[in-house]
Amino acid sequence: MIPPRAVKGMNDVLPEEIGRWQHIERAYARTMSLHGYREVRTPYVEETSLFVRAMGDATDVVEKEMYSFEHRGDGLTLRPEGTAGAVRAYLEHAVQGREPVTRWWYAGPMFRAENTQRGRYRQFSQLGAEIFGDDGPGCDAEMIAMLVEFLQSLAVPEVELVVNSLGGPEARSRYRAALLAHLTPRQGSLSPESQRRLATNPLRILDSKDERDREAVRDAPTIREFIDADDREHFSKLLTYLDALETPYSVDERLVRGLDYYTSTLFEIKGAHGKLGAGNTLVGGGRYDRLVADLGGPRVPAIGFAAGLERLLIASELSAAASTTDALIAPVGDAAVAPGLEMARRLRRFGIRCEIDTRGGSLKSQLRRANHLGVRMVLILGDSELAEGSVQVKDLEAHTQERMAREPALRVVVDRLMAASRSVDPPTRSERP
Ligand code: AMP
Repeated sequence: MIPPRAVKGMNDVLPEEIGRWQHIERAYARTMSLHGYREVRTPYVEETSLFVRAMGDATDVVEKEMYSFEHRGDGLTLRPEGTAGAVRAYLEHAVQGREPVTRWWYAGPMFRAENTQRGRYRQFSQLGAEIFGDDGPGCDAEMIAMLVEFLQSLAVPEVELVVNSLGGPEARSRYRAALLAHLTPRQGSLSPESQRRLATNPLRILDSKDERDREAVRDAPTIREFIDADDREHFSKLLTYLDALETPYSVDERLVRGLDYYTSTLFEIKGAHGKLGAGNTLVGGGRYDRLVADLGGPRVPAIGFAAGLERLLIASELSAAASTTDALIAPVGDAAVAPGLEMARRLRRFGIRCEIDTRGGSLKSQLRRANHLGVRMVLILGDSELAEGSVQVKDLEAHTQERMAREPALRVVVDRLMAASRSVDPPTRSERP
């Protein structure tokens, strides 16, 4: 019989890799709390109509990438992104009545039936955030600068920020008309995909990587000529603030991004070109000042972003996090298992991460296990130690081994590991007392 396999584009994360995941997740949670965001958790499944209303039915995601299904008469979808659900929750719980400005962050899986490749999966994780109620360009600048710094703290090479302004829906519809006027005579030279987009969502042609499309849009009008004075001022202030925060950027008037709900500020952060190739967009975000109202709420301005966690993992040059176990108890023989279990429990009460090999196998095999786990301390309980109520304390880092009574041995282990934990990166050891 053929053993079962995971669904295409949906990956396991094995314990060997989890250290790097948790490091980024914790660093993100910390960055968020430093900036006044609080975590929100919304369901993985929402009504299909929510995504259609929020993202627009002519977007790639809604047209062909959603995992949608009928269940007992309800049309449901596995969430392909986090903003629609966040806005739904914000409105459903009338959060705007309780606080003028809301900063939410989230982290979790998203689902899109895409063609898979390196950095592009069907289940992937996003780290995202939304700010509701603040329409100032300073808010945009703070969010963007925070993200650039976050990527730098993860040792992502070649971080590159691109910003643009889309204006409001009126500007966009004027621009759409101008773009259509430019592209229609060139229709025959567009890629088949863009010929179709011409009718549904011509702005998306600006994002196309196809050489034929790039040629056709080369001297197309740009959105800048169409956006109104308020949006122009907002954008120029944003750039001033980014300068003040010493956050380097480039302006790309062709940046439009996939989703319909964006207005005004738009940004993308790329990085690690060598490792990610064309799929090197790590973070995408922008303002969506009309979405809350479009979904039936009051007019509340908002801005948000999402970063792809798998892509950050590929891009980050941080090495694997330190070992996840501090000590191994090695009972040699059956009789040593019970006192070994007791010592393991005592150590855990001091916050020491420890494992015990309850098979009580040979010392050699238990030391091999200790090396594999990367523990620093091994407590060996052999026959002679059992007989005199002592234990051998082996320090793999200091290359020492001493026989001691059990009580002082526990104190030595705790002291050495605690001293070591104070000198390592706090995010990986934050559970320590
Ligand atoms: P988007 O919601 O499309 O703006 O995407 C925001 C970020 O999520 C992107 O910049 C990627 O880092 C990540 N992302 C989007 N789609 C995928 C995918 N299929 N697989 C992995 N990461 C993705």
